Amino acid sequence: MGTWTANYVIYENHVNKHIGIHKNGCSQIEKNGGTGIGKYIGFASKNDAYEYAKNIDLPKNFCKFCIKNDKD
Ligand SMILES: [Zn+2]
Repeated sequence: MGTWTANYVIYENHVNKHIGIHKNGCSQIEKNGGTGIGKYIGFASKNDAYEYAKNIDLPKNFCKFCIKNDKD
C-alpha cells in the first residue's frame, strides 16, 4: 500500500461509516476495507491523528492491536 513516512495512520471510510486509527506499520491497517472505498491519511504524531479524528463525524475504531485504548 505504498510507503508511509507517518507515525500514525487513519483509515477513513464513508461507505462503512467508520474511521480506524492505527500506528503506522500495523498489520491490521489493510484489513479495514477494500480498495476504493476508503482512504488512508498519515500523521506525524498521535495528537495530529486524534485532532483530525475528533473533527470527523464517524465512529472511531481504535485498533486493539496497535493502540491499547484511546487514552494511550
Ligand atoms: Zn492497528
